[in-house]
Amino acid sequence: MSTGRQSKLLYIYTIGCQMNVYDSEHMALALAPLGYVPALSPADADMVIVNTCSVRSKAEEKAFSLLGRLEAVKRRRPGLIVAVAGCVAQQEGVRILERAPHVDVVLGTRAVHRLASLVRRVQAGRGPVWDLEMDDGVEDDEAAPEFAAPGTVSRFVTIMRGCDNFCAYCVVPHVRGRETSRPPEAILREVEALVAAGARQVTLLGQNVNSYGIKEGLCSFPELLARVNAVQGLARIRFTTSHPKDLTTELIQAFGRLEKLCPHIHLPVQSGSNRILERMNRRYTREHYLDNVAKLRNSCPGIAITSDMIVGFAGETQADFEATLDLVRQVQFDGLFAFMYSDRPKAPSSQFPEKVPVQDKRERLQALLELQEKITYTRNRALVGSVQEVLTEGFNKKRAPGRSTEDTRPQWTGRTPGNKVVNFQCSVGPWGVREPRAGQLVSVRIEKALAHSLWGVLDESPTAVGRPGREVGHAAQSQHRRLDDGSGIQHAHHHPQDRG
Ligand code: SAM
Ligand code: SF4
Repeated sequence: MSTGRQSKLLYIYTIGCQMNVYDSEHMALALAPLGYVPALSPADADMVIVNTCSVRSKAEEKAFSLLGRLEAVKRRRPGLIVAVAGCVAQQEGVRILERAPHVDVVLGTRAVHRLASLVRRVQAGRGPVWDLEMDDGVEDDEAAPEFAAPGTVSRFVTIMRGCDNFCAYCVVPHVRGRETSRPPEAILREVEALVAAGARQVTLLGQNVNSYGIKEGLCSFPELLARVNAVQGLARIRFTTSHPKDLTTELIQAFGRLEKLCPHIHLPVQSGSNRILERMNRRYTREHYLDNVAKLRNSCPGIAITSDMIVGFAGETQADFEATLDLVRQVQFDGLFAFMYSDRPKAPSSQFPEKVPVQDKRERLQALLELQEKITYTRNRALVGSVQEVLTEGFNKKRAPGRSTEDTRPQWTGRTPGNKVVNFQCSVGPWGVREPRAGQLVSVRIEKALAHSLWGVLDESPTAVGRPGREVGHAAQSQHRRLDDGSGIQHAHHHPQDRG
């Protein structure tokens, strides 16, 4: 392909979970030796990758709609290389080429490290090409710090791939393969590289981090956390996701013990009804889940607990749904991601006959979201008056300098240890406005609770939690996270695990 430029431009659409965000960064890294650099928009790109999700049908539809749009672009610019990656690529395989003949590369979920050789074949006129191989274990790839936006404070690190749990509704084991854990040494090298590139927080990713390393005889997940905790310059550690059936006492205790481990756990429950949990093959009961919650709160008072819930699973009655509402009232989650059940290919529940009508699913989702909104707001309100340690991410997008008409003072944004978003303003002292930078731990006095965030003022009193503007290693440049963060990788997501 001749572009008239030395480097070629790459644009990646990322649909779905953080694992896809991570994989997109690795795709960009894999293509760097071929001269690809991030494009600001797909319109300029020489190559576009659609990194897809198939956890729910909506995410899959979105992938095909994006591919449809790219067909028209390719008609105008035949030299454009179009690739499909991620779960839909793995699930549909070469069938994608029948539906979207303008696609040049179909990249399976375990083939990211072989992307460059596939693209070379397309460039040599030997496309379309595909790689759907799944059984070669985990490639020991490193992070791609150079593809993150400068000053990106928070980064993901995949510690394991695939899943062995086979929940009845879930496509993941079928499109991501068997569970495999990366060696701790590789993970630590990657975390250190990310910190050196400006990261202050890492989120360790796995479908069930509780079984990290067991199959391979590596260290346990709490041991891995302890080793990551020792990385100099790192301020915070998060992880997702933890399966309730495997939550260990060792992990519960890690929350009080490791100072960098944030007091927040995402513990997906999926339903409050034992009958439905059994049909879902979740292998725990409502009582076991509530017991886990009690143990977590005993061991780490104030820990934030968030969860996932599916409404309208095949066979769910109104009584089952009431049990879900009751569990939500009992637990008082800090946040909840609720989904309408959707049939997925190869997932056993797609064959279950007792489908719940879509209108009932909608009504249940609405009722659940309304209940949780009230609970989230109440929990946010309980923080008013407190001083929270906030890891600054950058300017609040809506109130960045020059963006606001009525108040010209910029607002900052960051997160509490419990993962709540805090927008805050800096007080004006005799020194003028003391602005923090992205990647600093600051103390913020919470003045107002909103439905989905908190509002506060930078607290510079000597009694504040930590000291204002405490450096954690070297300071990152000020940058706010955007959906398109300048990395040429567009992320469209709303959920810790699956944002399709
Ligand atoms: N491994 C994580 C766990 O065990 O909780 C979750 C991974 S899954 C990619 C993210 C969430 O998507 C699940 O927790 C579930 O709530 C939701 N989900 C998965 N399959 C679904 C389906 N067929 N219909 C609706 N929601 C689904
Ligand atoms: Fe695995 Fe999570 Fe899917 Fe269950 S819901 S099969 S644990 S990825």
